[in-house]
Amino acid sequence: MACKLFIILPCYNEEEVLRSSAEKVLGVLDSLLSDTSDPLSPESRILFVDDGSADATWDIISSLHKENPLFTGLKLAKNYGHQTAIFAGMERALKAGADCMVTIDADLQQDIAALPEFLEKYRAGADIVYGIRDSRDTDSFFKKTTATLYYKLMKALGVRIVPQSADYRLMSARAVRALSEYKEHNLFIRGLVPDIGFKSDSVYFHVRKREAGTSKYTLRKMLALALDGITSFSIQPLRLVFMFGIISFIVSLIMMALTIVDHIRGVTVPGWSTLTISIWLLGGVQLLSLGILGEYIGRTYMESKRRPRYFVSSDLGEE
Ligand code: UDP
Ligand code: MG
Repeated sequence: MACKLFIILPCYNEEEVLRSSAEKVLGVLDSLLSDTSDPLSPESRILFVDDGSADATWDIISSLHKENPLFTGLKLAKNYGHQTAIFAGMERALKAGADCMVTIDADLQQDIAALPEFLEKYRAGADIVYGIRDSRDTDSFFKKTTATLYYKLMKALGVRIVPQSADYRLMSARAVRALSEYKEHNLFIRGLVPDIGFKSDSVYFHVRKREAGTSKYTLRKMLALALDGITSFSIQPLRLVFMFGIISFIVSLIMMALTIVDHIRGVTVPGWSTLTISIWLLGGVQLLSLGILGEYIGRTYMESKRRPRYFVSSDLGEE
């Protein structure tokens, strides 16, 4: 039976690139639909997920849908962030009965021409096909270093994550069903997907510069994503707090011995530096530890509310 593919593009204020991206994706889908050896199902779609854009993004998506029924759209009730937008798109595709789906950024910085390769690997039996960037030469120095350090940190913390894998990925329907079983509110898809298991494969692709518009990932959004990744997959930072505790305890024993010796020798007045340093150091370590604890407690609190992940305000596929 012909495979029904959904190509999912999360869009947040992407009016500048949307039309040109749509055209390129359509080109790829069209050629896959008219493939002579193994064409895709004609029910395959290009699904735009409007993540609460404030510009003309949704109007563009609606008119694309009118021009060509291969385009469809889902509008979320507000801006939930990239991860949730991708997830909403995947759940929508699942509802539409897709056999497999590929997620790719709306700015097409990730090379859409690699899509047939993903499909090949899926047809060869992979449930998850990771897109792995071949280099980071289009990234700024800052993004390159922070991203590389972040992947190293995640590895050190024992988080299983595919290095340099972006959210350009193919997943089969059953892999997405498995992903939906993860009930956490804070989605860090990159970390969840390897946790699912199933047979996986990867495709290397080249990252391009953004053609129009600006990055929608502000530093703040990037930091939030990084923190989500760490806290939802590792409790090593909590263990670190325990280590701080042990170390300070050992140091305090040494200090106690030294103080007693000083007392016996009668040199109790000097020692102002030692005292000041200890106060600041211990105070710092305590506040830092409290902060780490607080981060986890806060997240536990937020997750305990079991709030809905997202709401849909319009769905072009349901008309
Ligand atoms: N995006 C989203 N919601 C957000 C931020 C970004 O859906 O709150 C989408 C955005 O439209 C794009 C993708 O996520 O399709 C990646 O964002 P962007 O290209 O701005 O990030 P960068 O490539 O600079 O990391
Ligand atoms: Mg981008």
